[in-house]
Amino acid sequence: MEFENILLQEGVDPQVVEFVREMESSMESEFKNYEDIADYCQVKILRAMQESKLASTDFNWTTGYGYGDPGREKVEEIYSSIFKSEDALVRPNIVSGTHAISLVLFSILRGGDHFLSITGTPYDTLLKVIGTKGNSDGSLIDLGVEYSEIPLVNGSIDLKSIVDYIKPSTKMVEIQRSTGYSDRRAFTISEIKEAIEEVKSINKDIIVFVDNCYGEFTEYLEPVEIGADIVAGSLIKNPGGGLAYSGGYICGREDLINKVASRLTAPGIGKDCGLTFGITRQILQGLFLSPSTVLGARKGALFSACFEKLGFKCIPSVEDPRSDIIQSIEFKDPELLKIFCREVQFASPVDSYFTPEPWDMPGYTDKVIMAAGGFIEGSSIELSADGPMREPYTVYFQGGLTYSHCKIALVKILDKMKKSGLIKITP
Ligand SMILES: *Cc1c(COP(=O)(O)O)cnc(C)c1O
Repeated sequence: MEFENILLQEGVDPQVVEFVREMESSMESEFKNYEDIADYCQVKILRAMQESKLASTDFNWTTGYGYGDPGREKVEEIYSSIFKSEDALVRPNIVSGTHAISLVLFSILRGGDHFLSITGTPYDTLLKVIGTKGNSDGSLIDLGVEYSEIPLVNGSIDLKSIVDYIKPSTKMVEIQRSTGYSDRRAFTISEIKEAIEEVKSINKDIIVFVDNCYGEFTEYLEPVEIGADIVAGSLIKNPGGGLAYSGGYICGREDLINKVASRLTAPGIGKDCGLTFGITRQILQGLFLSPSTVLGARKGALFSACFEKLGFKCIPSVEDPRSDIIQSIEFKDPELLKIFCREVQFASPVDSYFTPEPWDMPGYTDKVIMAAGGFIEGSSIELSADGPMREPYTVYFQGGLTYSHCKIALVKILDKMKKSGLIKITP
């Protein structure tokens, strides 16, 4: 109870403290489920590290071309083993999730191929990669790739329509696991499995690609195990565990990873070159910590869905299955959205004295407010929140290196909102 006492001493409203205690105890059994998943993923990761005979000398690195960097090769072996793929490309010079995804698309698709998203409009940053937004120079469409997407139906994949969209030229199908900036929950592994089975039953040669950003280690299985041919994600999200300085990963069929590696470096060089810049240790230590970091973030996300009890729409809802670490809350009030983001910033370990303001971010039509004060810039496995300043004033909340940190931030948010008179918390 010392945690509650210190909050009360800091002037937190006793009703907020009481509310938080009740919410937390109502979530205990779900927390247990998450812990089982985290334990299971920890076993997978530990085994992969042992089977690869990871050694302390693997953290050494080379210079120049980076030939025969044993650490780089171990990292990729370990990723293959965890994601159950034939091969993997995991590099610090993949600059972001968008870069990892873009590498997959550009290395596999050719002019004349048809590329189909079956999970509606993809994540914002991919629209310029595909060429449906902005100046399309150098985009997939510019290179002659034909693109189409199947709209979601009530937030679900429209399985029945897939057959109508697939053509003889359909080379690749994309599935986005996580919410992104949309208003649907993440697709679960079992929903993704059904969709992959449907695609493969129409044409087994179609390459299924899963954008796995934010999904890693939130379920027992990962997409390759249920039929995906290739997956990609970012190391400053879940699998970097908050420690990786930068990087992206791509896991999948060997022939496809070869193509991707030829695109990242050059044909003939592929995976054989590329410096690790000494961050093999952070990449692997972060990976090792990732299941428990993801666990903390997931508990924080579920906990933040307590806003449902206060009358706000939450996606996913408290009862929904979860397959990523994102929580969105519709505030329908610009003031509440601002308070939420500001309190997240004030509760951060770094840059806590900054006050976030809505601003005109390049590429967005409305002003956006963003809060993040992490150890790694832009890392969204660390506590962060953001939202566009437009109806219905939805905040997207994610990350948190520890559950305690998420909880402290949420207490402060609830307290500030209650004191502003904009929400009611009654016992
Ligand atoms: C974050 C994200 C991306 C892009 O990652 P960046 O690292 O921000 O470029 C792509 N897809 C989804 C679903 C994401 O959540």
